[in-house]
Amino acid sequence: NMFLPGGGTGFIGKALVDTLKRAGHEVTVISRTQAPGRITWNEISKSPLPECEAVVNLAGKNILNPLKRWNETFLQELRQSRIETTQTLASKIADAAVPPKVFVTSSAVGYYPASETEEYTEDFPPSSADTLTRLCKDWENSAKLPDNCTTRLVTLRIGVVLGRSGGVIQQTIWPFWFGLGGVIGSGKQHFPWIHIDDMTGIITHSLDNDHVTGVLNAVAPEIVTNERFTKEYGSVLWRPTLIPAPSFALNIMFGTERAKILLEGQKVIPKRTLEMGYRFKFPELKAAMKNILS
Ligand code: NDP
Repeated sequence: NMFLPGGGTGFIGKALVDTLKRAGHEVTVISRTQAPGRITWNEISKSPLPECEAVVNLAGKNILNPLKRWNETFLQELRQSRIETTQTLASKIADAAVPPKVFVTSSAVGYYPASETEEYTEDFPPSSADTLTRLCKDWENSAKLPDNCTTRLVTLRIGVVLGRSGGVIQQTIWPFWFGLGGVIGSGKQHFPWIHIDDMTGIITHSLDNDHVTGVLNAVAPEIVTNERFTKEYGSVLWRPTLIPAPSFALNIMFGTERAKILLEGQKVIPKRTLEMGYRFKFPELKAAMKNILS
């Protein structure tokens, strides 16, 4: 029975597709570009949803691309690539003659306002504190299905995904390898992280288990600060981490709205994820970093 992941060509998507294929599932990726084994967003929006077991959405334009200036056009692209793709899938699922069993959509820990003291579980109400909390709120709302729809909806609030083939580790491995890594800003901000194997693990747990519904925080149970992450990163590579990335430089490079992602953080707890029976393969940072970097 077919699985249909949107954004299945990305960092998380590729890892998910590998996992699904290894488990013997048939997979068709939804992408902007045509290729064997893919279907385009254009095709999806123009015809009924192909009959499938599950739909996942992992599409989204990369936020932390320093080459892209933070302006209204860029923000629109960030929103469109997440909200329109999710909305398209939700409306196709609602109209499907045979709807899929489950729809897993992504959101991010940016749903929660940055804070050094607040502890966030999944039941925290939506916030309009800033551009990113609003983006995540609208992104989650765009996945809503009508009440009479039988498809189970699972929304994942994803933390910083750690893996060799993409995301923050791929972007920073060379500076850290050359001993040029260091804390970001004060280093005291929380750093909600998750190992890529647990990221795909939570998705497949959601796909496979009928009792899993609603919002799950996709973050590891061990809560760390940026400083702790930086030290662990350097120590696993046997490299010093003495060169800090000061706030003003990041504000210039990314723009203040976006630099917040790096300079501020959220203390996020995977409460429902654990209650829903997910067992983390890498609950602790040290073992996760050793696994990724060695
Ligand atoms: P990637 O940056 O690897 O991108 C995922 C896919 O999104 C791409 O392969 C691309 O597919 C598609 N995409 C890119 N730009 C657009 C666009 N303008 N319109 C439509 N589709 C687009 O993302 P990740 O795998 O790292 O993340 C997946 C999702 O999880 C994203 O929505 C991201 O915001 C979210 N997330 C990720 C985190 C992380 O640390 N990685 C943390 C928190 C949330 P194609 O080219 O085939 O169309």
